[in-house]
Amino acid sequence: MFDLHAYQLLKTGDIIAIERGLGIRGHNALCPCRNCTMKGVRIASTGGTNYYIPLRLPTDGQQQQAHKEPSSSREPGSLPKRTHKTWVLTLTHMDAAGSGERERIGKENGLREWPIFTRVGSLDYAKSFPWDWMHLLLENIVPNLLDLWMGRFKGLDEGDGGYRIPDSIWGQIAQETEEATKTIPTEFVRVLKNITAHRSGFTAESYCFWFCYLFPVLLRNRFQQQKYYQHGCLLVKIMKCCLQFSITEKELDELEADIIEWVRKYERCVRSNYDLPLTLNGKEVDTVWYGRVMSIMAVDLPGDRNVYGKCAGKTHLLAVVQPCNTGQKDARKELVAYKDYAQPVAIDLNHITALVGRAKSRNQWHILDRFEDCALAAFDGHEERGEGVEDDGADWHIFEQ
Ligand SMILES: [Zn+2]
Repeated sequence: MFDLHAYQLLKTGDIIAIERGLGIRGHNALCPCRNCTMKGVRIASTGGTNYYIPLRLPTDGQQQQAHKEPSSSREPGSLPKRTHKTWVLTLTHMDAAGSGERERIGKENGLREWPIFTRVGSLDYAKSFPWDWMHLLLENIVPNLLDLWMGRFKGLDEGDGGYRIPDSIWGQIAQETEEATKTIPTEFVRVLKNITAHRSGFTAESYCFWFCYLFPVLLRNRFQQQKYYQHGCLLVKIMKCCLQFSITEKELDELEADIIEWVRKYERCVRSNYDLPLTLNGKEVDTVWYGRVMSIMAVDLPGDRNVYGKCAGKTHLLAVVQPCNTGQKDARKELVAYKDYAQPVAIDLNHITALVGRAKSRNQWHILDRFEDCALAAFDGHEERGEGVEDDGADWHIFEQ
């Protein structure tokens, strides 16, 4: 027996719960962020009282802000981050001040009171409360993007942007989404409802799958301008990177750069050339074949060692597979579509390495292959590969009939 002493270093939770716990004024305040001290601006022309935190600030004539910032834009790579030390110092000043002054300092710094965690000495108020992935992306950014693209976001029109997709096309996308559920293994995702009519039926899990796997297929060439699709694909890349089981320092730097790029583009401070390679970090495989299993055969090989070598006298399992004409492209790295099949072939069952789904959009099937660093493959025959039957170095990924 021993006494276990544990020190809490990090805490996650939904935005409201964390704000309460930290004693900050929160997301509607002048200084709303728990990690940095950026101050919000109001847009005078709309008369609204909401504060916004854009990187590119409105011009003086447009903004109504008591606390004007010196520059016209903020550098996302070097935001004014909070520190634990200044946090504590500000609260100490607030305690020493009279009520009016206390309110002024609190408003200016976005603080209300001491965090409820003051007795947990291992916590750093500025760094121990990261934004959790599900609330940030699946309950905020992704549904909001969908609202923008459907023209349903807080009654806003699209201004001079061209990102709204007409309802008639959303009708097709919704139908293709519902249909896709029939050809995607249930292990990947549960039933996806109609994305235009039953948005309330979309859970965080549905948004995650829909956005990471179906958005790249179903919304390709649907926007008037390709840059909106590319921007969405950059978010897919960011989300998939966050889902990896492990992440290297190099990937972390790339992720930071991608997120900064994504926010910049969101504000349309964009380069005119959207050149976004959608590369995923998977193991290198020479060729990947996709196909459907027609039947599985058990073959008893005769005992002639001269012909069958060490497989002589053994039972072999073969799969008769109809290959899709996908050009051996890897759907974990790029979009892979096909329209027809090659002649069926019999292969060693061990060569089938993964279960995949497919979704149909505009008369083409698209392969939905799971990104293997962040999701488990359903079949994995690698360990037993190559015994007796010649290994052609190809990976077979299969969907069910
Ligand atoms: Zn911040």
